[in-house]
Amino acid sequence: MRRKHDSEENTAANLKPHSRAWFDALSAFNARQAAHTRQIVQMASHIQVCTVCGDKPASDYHLDGHDLPRLAVPTLRLCEDCLGIRQAQGEPFMPLP
Ligand SMILES: [Zn+2]
Repeated sequence: MRRKHDSEENTAANLKPHSRAWFDALSAFNARQAAHTRQIVQMASHIQVCTVCGDKPASDYHLDGHDLPRLAVPTLRLCEDCLGIRQAQGEPFMPLP
């Protein structure tokens, strides 16, 4: 299920959550969120955790058909709980292909 392509598809819409490019993009848009997620990943000591709360298992999602600010990073790694919360708030996260 996990593929390892870091060199291609480097547009923000396809950034692999928790990759270096993803952190770079997120830092530019929301440095606070980026710092928060860096801490979560560090505490979990691996990157296969939820972007928001550090829970696992977590899968990759992107925000589909949404009006995003130009620099926003629409991909996140979410656990089931956080996915449910986001969707309930009207953010239609879809699994990353
Ligand atoms: Zn979570």
